[in-house]
Amino acid sequence: MKKIQTFLNKRLGFMTFLIICLWLKTVIAYYIDFSLSIENLLQHFFAIVNPFATIVLLMSLALYINKAKISYIVMGVIYIADSLFIYANILYYRELSDFISASTIVGVGKVAKGLGSSTVGSMQLRDIIYLIDFIIIILLFATRFVKIDQRPFRKINALATTCLGIALFSADLAGSEANRPQLLGRTFDHSYIVKYLGINTFLAYDAVRSVQNDQVRSSATETEIDSVLDYTKQNYAAPNPKYFGKANGKNIIIIHLESFEQFLIDMKVNGQEVTPFLNSLYNDQNTISFDNFYHEVGSGRTSDAETMLESGLFGLPEGSFFQKLGGDNTFQAAPAILGQKKGYKSAVFHGNSASFWGRNVTYKNMGYNYFFDESYYDVTPGSLSENNYGIKDKLLFSEGVKYLEQMQQPFYVKFLTVTNHVGYPLSDEDNGDFQTSDTSIDTVNRYFKTAHYLDKSVEEFFNYLKATGLDKKSMVVLYGDHYGLNSEQHADGLSTLLGKTPDTWTEFDTTHTMQKVPFMIHMDGLKGGINHTYGGEIDVLPTLLHLAGINTKQYVQVGTDLFSKQHNSIVAFRNKNFVTPHYTVYRTNGKTRVYSNDTGEQVDMRDNPELLTKVEKWEQEVDLRLKTSDSVNNKNLLRFYTPFDFMPVNPANYSYQNQVQQMEKIRNDLGDKSTSLYSKNGNKSTTDLYNTDAVQLQDDRTPIDSWSYLNKDKK
Ligand code: MN
Repeated sequence: MKKIQTFLNKRLGFMTFLIICLWLKTVIAYYIDFSLSIENLLQHFFAIVNPFATIVLLMSLALYINKAKISYIVMGVIYIADSLFIYANILYYRELSDFISASTIVGVGKVAKGLGSSTVGSMQLRDIIYLIDFIIIILLFATRFVKIDQRPFRKINALATTCLGIALFSADLAGSEANRPQLLGRTFDHSYIVKYLGINTFLAYDAVRSVQNDQVRSSATETEIDSVLDYTKQNYAAPNPKYFGKANGKNIIIIHLESFEQFLIDMKVNGQEVTPFLNSLYNDQNTISFDNFYHEVGSGRTSDAETMLESGLFGLPEGSFFQKLGGDNTFQAAPAILGQKKGYKSAVFHGNSASFWGRNVTYKNMGYNYFFDESYYDVTPGSLSENNYGIKDKLLFSEGVKYLEQMQQPFYVKFLTVTNHVGYPLSDEDNGDFQTSDTSIDTVNRYFKTAHYLDKSVEEFFNYLKATGLDKKSMVVLYGDHYGLNSEQHADGLSTLLGKTPDTWTEFDTTHTMQKVPFMIHMDGLKGGINHTYGGEIDVLPTLLHLAGINTKQYVQVGTDLFSKQHNSIVAFRNKNFVTPHYTVYRTNGKTRVYSNDTGEQVDMRDNPELLTKVEKWEQEVDLRLKTSDSVNNKNLLRFYTPFDFMPVNPANYSYQNQVQQMEKIRNDLGDKSTSLYSKNGNKSTTDLYNTDAVQLQDDRTPIDSWSYLNKDKK
């Protein structure tokens, strides 16, 4: 005991103790909270050793300080900062299955609001193991078992410690590179970098990469657009005459179903349909529903889905395109194309603050006329989603129609729902008598509740469309933006409900249940049915533009019209995995794995050279598609190309302030020619036709004349 005390009372001794504590916490996190797929002894070795290198390196900095007290304080600050960083990563990982990147930290102001509260919700009791060390350290000082070592520390020893850190790190790097060549140069799998080089190194690596990205942009030249145009010309899929212009002149309403997965369709829990309305819509004779449609988002999730639908290009390999580049890039996006070609007015309805994901600036570059963010709705404490992503869906739709009815027709509008967002908290009073599942995984049970709520919200909105006659004049497009349940843990709860067992659940099951999302096009006169074409979010824009009667030949889009005879049915995921109509191919974690879609079993490629050749060809195709998209986005190449008959968007022409007055002015200027629903209704509001059972609106809800309401004080 005495020996330990003597050791801890030396500066280097105490630091060693801190290093061991931090190392232990990091390794526990690696093994318990992150799925790093550590496969062999050597990888165990890397994972166990790598935290030492960076922690020793960081901590050694404190040894250079002469004043003992300050030196200890610096040690403490480094200790607390790294502990917090590890724990923040654990919470982040539980929700998003990814590590905190440099851009997440830089953009933390933009996205923190929502992420913050849902992250707190993922805390668990066992997290106490990440706290115990603090209690021990405080006790050590409080009981005076450990005192500050006042003796000066020799610089040469400080230098030796730093060198030890550098040596350990170099050895780790060299060993990792030998085991996995081009680990840093090529990999896009974050867990690889963490497994081999550590979570601190990942952050540094990511920071360096984002600086490099900036350089890539400024060095891009005009000729680089040529190969992109060659690609889009080669891959163009001509419209199917059966569908081209089918929605000519119709309003286009996009309903973005947050975190909504395909398996919810027609699913029952406790003998009750989870989403009865969407089920009926899915099977409606005027709806074309796709049952082999996949989300293709990366870590920009919701914003990646928007990027694909609006621009026809993928999100970035890392981070959110909206957040990183949306404010600077040149776009030829849906709102501008529809506006210029067919006179559409465009708007987004979203109950979160305007700057979330950098939407306010990105939408202007896309040419969105209006953006009705949180500030446009009556926000009371009960009206916000418990996950803090914004106003509840029933309120978003019902409060949104007072703006919708003022828009000139035809309009292109998008409703971004939020209640069914990760975390899935919802008070029971919001959800009537719906009884959810009772699986062992609470997230799974909650997911059905918020999905049920979302379903009801959409139903109320559809009833309004019907009551106002908008249904006859509109094409409504519904899609799930990305996974809601996606982890192995979720699969434990979900598998039994889907008639599978957790033990036999594979990555193939994850892809085909959790990455499939609904995509439905509903319009009167559309010959409906279930369409089995393989496709994804990247294919939506060309599909919709062709339906609207706009040929996409001259636009830079990397997806293809789902109805086209030339549609490309290789569905590329953002992590380079992909699905074809017959096979599912994984390329992450080192080696290519091919599954048959028919059997769900892995195909042994050793005795299948023919398939191997095909897979290699597909891989090249997927890589080229993603690379082309990334090059356009990262280098901002659309600034060098303006399609024929297209006016570049000037974001300065758009203001999301005083939008009510903007709409009023247009209405007055147009007089009899105003085509808004409000004008067509004899300058009377239609909001009293909106029926909702939202509890927040039951007490003081009286039919209001939206126009007098709007003119009150809303900005
Ligand atoms: Mn989302």
